[in-house]
Amino acid sequence: MSPRRRYVVTTIAPTEKTRVRRRPERAAYDRQVIYDILDEALVCHIGVATEAGPRVIPTAIIRIGEHVYVHGSPNNQLLTALADGAPACITVTLVDSVVAGRSGFGMSMDYRSVMIFGTAEKIVDNDEKERLVAAFVEDIMPGHIVRPPKKKELAATVFLRFSIAEASAKIRNHGVVDPDEDHALDVWAGVVPLKLMAGEPRNCGDLKPGISTPDYAKRYKRPSTK
Ligand SMILES: Cc1cc2nc3c(=O)[nH]c(=O)nc-3n(C[C@H](O)[C@H](O)[C@H](O)COP(=O)(O)OP(=O)(O)OC[C@H]3O[C@@H](n4cnc5c(N)ncnc54)[C@H](O)[C@@H]3O)c2cc1C
Repeated sequence: MSPRRRYVVTTIAPTEKTRVRRRPERAAYDRQVIYDILDEALVCHIGVATEAGPRVIPTAIIRIGEHVYVHGSPNNQLLTALADGAPACITVTLVDSVVAGRSGFGMSMDYRSVMIFGTAEKIVDNDEKERLVAAFVEDIMPGHIVRPPKKKELAATVFLRFSIAEASAKIRNHGVVDPDEDHALDVWAGVVPLKLMAGEPRNCGDLKPGISTPDYAKRYKRPSTK
């Protein structure tokens, strides 16, 4: 079992902030459900109120145990605000289908999403930063082999950790929901499932001669419980 999968299956008790009020039947607070969505996602969006106003940044995210991690340049205004303790709202979204109803208001999407509230802890230990670099590599491209990070690269990167303690998932998975009176209309309604599909890998233009495309790149896919 990979270290990312080592967790006790529990429910995250909803708080005033994380209790889903709109469509509460779509809510999930089960850690496993939340972790699976986080593990499938490559990207999150982090919202934070900075001195210059609200900002939302898309960025790579990984989960290890009961925490998620993001990283970036110390010049990144948003990461700096987060490192200084600004409260964050992190969302992850997986769109599973586009849903075509029989009216404009019947148009929708089936999705799995997670929202996490928290404040960041800045990672300062270089060994931990190095482990996180390896974890980001393994998450983005499992099996990929890279050279070790340089000290100056580690020093020039901010790593932030957020506890998955105040979090919710919301899942829509029921396709078309049209009012009964629309069912007799002569129009198509249905869903088109969507998937993040890997294309054919393209070798780097300056790849050393003799290196062939590895299987892990040819067979790339995100982990999915769908
Ligand atoms: C791909 C996608 C498309 C969507 N399209 C629409 C749309 O077109 N119109 C629309 O109104 N809504 C849409 N939603 C749902 C939207 O994310 C909100 O859930 C909804 O608008 C209700 O917002 P609220 O602030 O009233 O939620 P509330 O229920 O009041 O939120 C309370 C708490 O519930 C939790 N929560 C709410 N939404 C989510 C979520 N999506 N994921 C995880 N936790 C959540 C949070 O902890 C939040 O603080 C979409 C969601 C996704 C993922």
